[in-house]
Amino acid sequence: MSVDWKPRTKAVHSGTRRSQYNEVSEAVFLTQGFVYDSAEQAEARFQSLGDDEFIYARYGNPTVRMFEDRISGLLGYEDCFACTSGMAAVSGALTSLLKAGDHVVAARALFGSCLYVLEDILARFGVEVTLIDGTDNAAWDAAIRPDTTMVFFESISNPTLEVVDMRHVVKAAHAVGALVLADDAMATPVFSYAKECGADIAIISTTKHVDGQGRMLGGAICGPKELIRGPIEAYMKHTGGAMNPFTAWTHLKALETIDLRVRAQADAAYKIADALNGHPKLSAVRYPTHPSHPQHALATSHAPSAGTVLAVEVKGGKEACFAFLNALEIITISNNFADAKSIATHPATTTHQRLPDDQKATLGISPGLVRLSAGLEDVDDLIADIRQALDTLK
Ligand SMILES: *Cc1c(COP(=O)(O)O)cnc(C)c1O
Repeated sequence: MSVDWKPRTKAVHSGTRRSQYNEVSEAVFLTQGFVYDSAEQAEARFQSLGDDEFIYARYGNPTVRMFEDRISGLLGYEDCFACTSGMAAVSGALTSLLKAGDHVVAARALFGSCLYVLEDILARFGVEVTLIDGTDNAAWDAAIRPDTTMVFFESISNPTLEVVDMRHVVKAAHAVGALVLADDAMATPVFSYAKECGADIAIISTTKHVDGQGRMLGGAICGPKELIRGPIEAYMKHTGGAMNPFTAWTHLKALETIDLRVRAQADAAYKIADALNGHPKLSAVRYPTHPSHPQHALATSHAPSAGTVLAVEVKGGKEACFAFLNALEIITISNNFADAKSIATHPATTTHQRLPDDQKATLGISPGLVRLSAGLEDVDDLIADIRQALDTLK
């Protein structure tokens, strides 16, 4: 590269590989295998693989490689392994880097499936996991031990929008030689600060802002080449979690617009939070970079925006909350986020239904909590929709 590209340029051009036809738009190589010129060449490829050589799509594919290079470039990491889903990325990163006897410290406020991997699966394989309040720096300091091998958290938690003081946690973890893995889905690839704050690995569910239009499942593990092309690639290619080339192709096209989409949606999320702040039917409105958020100073020290999702707490518990959700006319009830279509989710009865009530209470997943994902509709229409739905409540 002759110039140091800015993120928007990287999102459009990084990682492009052209075939002999010199196509403009990235080609989708929908192939499982690759033909060798000779038996000797096949033997040589299986011995060692060059940068632009492929043997089987479970190991790697040119379209997937383009996506890996583009997303790692955008997040500022050296390399990436692209996976079938965000959870394939989370579980693959954890499993490939941990062994029996290891100690992991993780923030308790995690996506439901991440919690299952840590508490149920890793425990079965003899990994000790200490869960703490991720917003409490003293709790991190107390839980990280000289033998701690890994630290794991969501940069911004889903659905309660708590912020981890990443610079503090990275410093504490690195002091004992522990690896830092950040689940970066909520922070968005546009406003990600994981690399800047020193996280060794950033994991993203590309299902969210990369796809951005509610179509494909995907995930990405971004980090140093040594880990990505070492233990992570070894684990992923032998266990079968590699991204489908067609998904990678849709992701490449989606990355061309990610900066425009995410900035517009994040702007809408802020404006909705601002408009709803102090609403008499709500007991809380949460958006980390809004001045009303208790961690506003920390959130704005990380990035100018906290992403496309906000949370509100409807007064009157589950009944009022359901009445509110059912009265929405534009915003749809679903359990995804980051879609171009705005989405409202009731975590207590859907994404976090599995958790016992006391754990829900500890995590702040109250019966009145609604997660709102701001889409690409006109923000004034979204605010009007939320207001009219709140007006139907007694
Ligand atoms: C959605 C999500 C995941 C899982 O991603 P999938 O693509 O659905 O497998 C993991 N972590 C966080 C924070 C998420 O929001």
